[in-house]
Amino acid sequence: MFFKPVKSICKLQLFRLRIASLFFFLHYDARHGIGAHRPASQRITAMMKQMLIAAMLAASAAGAAQGEEHAPGHSTHWTYSGKTGAPHWGDLQPDYATCKLGREQSPINIRGAVKADLPPIGFQYVDRPADVVNTGHTVQVNVPDGGAISLATGQYAFVQLHFHTPSEERINGKAYPLVAHLVHRNAAGKLAAIAVLFKEGKANPVLKRVFPAMPAGVNAPKPLPGGLNVADLLPADRGYYAFVGSLTTPPCSEDVQWRVLKQPVELSRAQLAAFKRLYPMNARPLQPLNARTIQASR
Ligand SMILES: [Zn+2]
Repeated sequence: MFFKPVKSICKLQLFRLRIASLFFFLHYDARHGIGAHRPASQRITAMMKQMLIAAMLAASAAGAAQGEEHAPGHSTHWTYSGKTGAPHWGDLQPDYATCKLGREQSPINIRGAVKADLPPIGFQYVDRPADVVNTGHTVQVNVPDGGAISLATGQYAFVQLHFHTPSEERINGKAYPLVAHLVHRNAAGKLAAIAVLFKEGKANPVLKRVFPAMPAGVNAPKPLPGGLNVADLLPADRGYYAFVGSLTTPPCSEDVQWRVLKQPVELSRAQLAAFKRLYPMNARPLQPLNARTIQASR
């Protein structure tokens, strides 16, 4: 599960954006020519502009190298592999410590679930305008006022949904090719997440609209034509597994109500390939169950 406040943008992403915008200006100059056909005064202005850009670029690179990551209001860059990969998240900055110290972390392997008389999840999603954003870690769909769910623990408003490949959660050891995490928050700020698993099969009508709307640029939301009713992503059977867990990305905060729907929905091989071209692997490894129990609806 991925949960990112709108203002949170890690330094590396910011750096990439700066570089991208600088290259845009350079490219603009190249296309419009700093050539000999232009008057000398214009050539000098253009040269000064390029020198200024070069200086900004150098300053920007120095800032990133010196680890501005810990500047207030910015989160540390993290990844799914390498030196900032999942095994290191807990050490990247103090408020990520739960990633290594937490005892109720997600994702988990769902096995040995105890059957229980659990109430059905009350899904109250509505048609709303939506936008799609490439967060740098996943594809996310924001649906403001997109409805709510009701659980035994209360009512939670829908916030956003996003995808992981392969599925972070496993059922008896089996991973699915993709999962959607539907993130909700209650009035007290507590989170509830619904996981919808995808298996390979027919093309998924929602993904058919969402994936092509995905902007290549990071943190540049793009409207989803036609908006979205999140219910269109749900399987017909809403039986589920229930347990408590955490965000599956830094800061790995706990006390999240997880509901994993048992019945997968389908996506085509081409749709999976389209997502993997952007994010070949964005799943946190399995975490220990520790003292938790997993319940399953009958
Ligand atoms: Zn997630």
